[in-house]
Amino acid sequence: MAVRLDVDTVRGIVDPPVFRGAEELLGSGMVGEISTVGGGCAAVVLDGGERRSAWVGVTDGTLATECDCEPEDAEELCVHVVAVALSAIQADFAWSSAATSPKAAVVDSRVRRLAEIAAELPLRRLAMLVAEHAVGDRRLEAKLLTHTGRIDQPTAVGATSCCDAPEKPESLLGREPA
Ligand SMILES: [Zn+2]
Repeated sequence: MAVRLDVDTVRGIVDPPVFRGAEELLGSGMVGEISTVGGGCAAVVLDGGERRSAWVGVTDGTLATECDCEPEDAEELCVHVVAVALSAIQADFAWSSAATSPKAAVVDSRVRRLAEIAAELPLRRLAMLVAEHAVGDRRLEAKLLTHTGRIDQPTAVGATSCCDAPEKPESLLGREPA
């Protein structure tokens, strides 16, 4: 599904100085050629002699961005992503409604590759490999138990042994001298 992103939308979500800075960069030809990356658009922006790789996409109706500059306020969009967004709007870029940022795409492709490799293992070997790692990784252990519907069992056992066990010896000790 395609989504619409226009100049007024961008103007409405960024600080006026950032918007003006982005317009200046675009107007002076500092925004490189736009390319489609993960359903969003990526371009190199020349800013004061620095080359910045910026990416803009639309995910779940909100603007997703990535830039290799380090903005002072991580919450605010930097001038480079805004310049790329404006450049893409000018070029009638076809925005995907579910863009995947380059960083997320890298993780996804690694996960996919490892999943393909794991699928080649015999089931028992794979099960042992997961079990060996789950023993030393509480999050993996919890995921494993959740996915197989066993999460309640270890929690209940853990709660019983940690709450009941210390109480009994204590009350016994308390009574003995008296
Ligand atoms: Zn930037």
